[in-house]
Amino acid sequence: MTLTTDDPNLGPVVVSEEAIRDRTKELGARIAVDYAARPPLLVGVLKGAFVFMSDLARAIDLPVEFDFMAVASYGSSTRTSGVVRIVKDLDSDLTGRHVLVVEDIVDSGLTLAFLLRNLAARHPASLAVCALLVKELEPSVDELAYVGFRIPRDFVVGYGLDVAERYRNLSCVRRYDGPMSPG
Ligand code: 5GP
Repeated sequence: MTLTTDDPNLGPVVVSEEAIRDRTKELGARIAVDYAARPPLLVGVLKGAFVFMSDLARAIDLPVEFDFMAVASYGSSTRTSGVVRIVKDLDSDLTGRHVLVVEDIVDSGLTLAFLLRNLAARHPASLAVCALLVKELEPSVDELAYVGFRIPRDFVVGYGLDVAERYRNLSCVRRYDGPMSPG
């Protein structure tokens, strides 16, 4: 059994491995220019962002630091309720830091809005977001400075994104056509 062969739940490729690689390099180069005078603290939102953060960080030719937080949303697995709970908080003090939040995907934007409110209250010198994927028609978020790809409103998996903890290690992003709790 392999990860992808004969899996009827996996739909078409939405963003290919090559496209992710190229775009991540571009984003990293832009971030390196924008943050040259103020090296950033990258804040990854677990678990989904760990794959993107790892590749993005190596595309930024600056001395960056890392921290992680984990949030859980109340509600079903497919729709965010907007009520978010911090499951793992940051280790760093954000006061005076240039914080760049690294997100896997922004759908309704509710999770991000909660995070940004929470992080802004810790007095960073600046606060911006780099998201790999943004679903079309998402409400505008001022802090969304760097976007990898705008994608249709389908549910997707791979490159960090899961269904019931599976598919995070796919190298590309694919549409998910199966049940929300695969066996
Ligand atoms: P939002 O609060 O923006 O509606 O939802 C954000 C969170 O919902 C993401 O961090 C992710 O955990 C989850 N999510 C939203 N859309 C998708 C999707 O298409 N696939 C997966 N695997 N998770 C998603």
